Amino acid sequence: MIVKLLRRVLRRGEPSAPTAAPGKPAVIPLARHGIHREMVSTGARRTCETLQQAGFKAYVVGGAVRDLIAGIVPKDYDIATDATPEQVRSLFRRSRIIGRRFQIVHVMQGGETLEVSTFRAVHDAGTAKDAHGRVLRDNVFGSMAEDSARRDFTVNALYYDPGSQTVIDYHHGVADLQQKTLRMIGEPRARYREDPVRMLRAVRLAAKLGLVLDPAVRAPIRELAVLIENVPVARLFDEMLKLLFSGHAVECVKRLREDGLHHGLLPLLDVILEQPLGEKFVMLALASTDARVRAGKSVSPGYLFATLLWHEVLGNWEARKARGELPIPALHEAMDEVLDIQAEKLAITRRIAGDIKDIWVLQPRFEKRSGKLPFRLLEQPRFRAAFDFLVLRAESGELDHELATWWQVFQTADEDTCAAMLRPESGVKKRRRRSRTKPSSTQGDDTTPASSID
Ligand code: ATP
Ligand code: MG
Repeated sequence: MIVKLLRRVLRRGEPSAPTAAPGKPAVIPLARHGIHREMVSTGARRTCETLQQAGFKAYVVGGAVRDLIAGIVPKDYDIATDATPEQVRSLFRRSRIIGRRFQIVHVMQGGETLEVSTFRAVHDAGTAKDAHGRVLRDNVFGSMAEDSARRDFTVNALYYDPGSQTVIDYHHGVADLQQKTLRMIGEPRARYREDPVRMLRAVRLAAKLGLVLDPAVRAPIRELAVLIENVPVARLFDEMLKLLFSGHAVECVKRLREDGLHHGLLPLLDVILEQPLGEKFVMLALASTDARVRAGKSVSPGYLFATLLWHEVLGNWEARKARGELPIPALHEAMDEVLDIQAEKLAITRRIAGDIKDIWVLQPRFEKRSGKLPFRLLEQPRFRAAFDFLVLRAESGELDHELATWWQVFQTADEDTCAAMLRPESGVKKRRRRSRTKPSSTQGDDTTPASSID
């Protein structure tokens, strides 16, 4: 009720112009934004206090202010100040300057790390850009008004002062947030050209906060989506991780599709969005990742990537088997080929690749339900993740539910029940396989039915 009323009041007399003139910010009182200083982390409050006591301006800025107004607990806190990095550094014993191009200071307070940045200037004609207009350097100190104008969306350009409990708002951001609108600061086309990643940020933030994209923010995306190809791959990969682990991945993917942002973005994203066979599987995986993130549980990139790429592996594996390759070596070849293709474009680290393979490589072993093999599988360190993966496969219709249910029971059953559940062995077949499938790597041991590593 109150929110509705507030919105109505705020909407009244409000011009549709996206921004107030920089330099004349609104100073919004507690009653309108609702952020009590106790809602802000102790570290962020202390950092602002210390800077202010030394005579500098200091505000909590960006995503944290936006999230607090929207009733979301911020992941982390950024602080903006007019103190230079050196001045910030000298005020905090536990702090260090990071970054070469644009220096920021990491201030440690208790277990928290606060990112403190000096107000930055907006771009001008002299700013270095690539042939498509993408800004290459962005590293000149500026005024607070300028700092607000170089941020992307109005809801991201809010400055909260824990001392006075006011929000300084240069661009109508509080009202936009309360009206659930994502609006760009400045002209959207120009801002997308400066930094095409903003298109992905628009989709992600809107999904996270339940916002509607302002038509001017949404309209150019389809046409300008190709510019994303010029963004360095590592940056895109980071943004994609943020998107997949936002707790709103399903919604993000839906919106990416609607806005025409899924073509050629990243090979991995193409895989997610364009494989009819694996779509159900991938959407189930994303939904379960969302549920885990929202419940505050840990999520592993390895597990998620294993699900995203599984149907690629399956297709490749099937083709190899059809050509007469032996199943287990063929699986290894398929895994390597799929990961190699991704590695060319993506920054999947060796460790993540190892985690992905661990999960894939255990899958055929769930089919073996006789002798000692099922017990050995239970002892695998990655059994839990591999079993969850098996359940997803069953839920997506790739496998019979019976297999997943069998393992569900088997892993918690007592010895007698387990013994009764085992399938009869077919000795001849087993012996023949033992001599033919010589493991070529240590991971090969895991999948080889005759292996006796444990
Ligand atoms: P979240 O942390 O929830 O992912 P965020 O908005 O805090 O969202 P960050 O990447 O932490 O995202 O950025 C902090 C702030 O820096 C943003 O709120 C915004 O003001 C500014 N910012 C980030 N990326 C851009 C960009 N590409 N263009 C302009 N401003 C940006
Ligand atoms: Mg942030």
